[in-house]
Amino acid sequence: MSGIETDGEDPSPVRFRLCVRCFRAVPTSTNERYCINDGSQMLEQCPMCKTPISSPYARYCAVCGFEFVLADSWRGQIEMRTPL
Ligand SMILES: [Zn+2]
Ligand SMILES: [Zn+2]
Repeated sequence: MSGIETDGEDPSPVRFRLCVRCFRAVPTSTNERYCINDGSQMLEQCPMCKTPISSPYARYCAVCGFEFVLADSWRGQIEMRTPL
């Protein structure tokens, strides 16, 4: 038997949604889009560089260093500029 072994590599890494207020994390396989604790929209990727969140314990983006807790006010500024 000869062949390329691919054990150890997970082809589909689990990604998470993160609440930036209480840092509750859920896998994206669930359909929770809003935090059940405080009703804020959960973050699915870094708002700065769009990197998916790969750890439920992430507080900062691994790629650009963006502090996820700032995403709440960041998003608020964007909404304020959007005319309804
Ligand atoms: Zn929350
Ligand atoms: Zn980032």
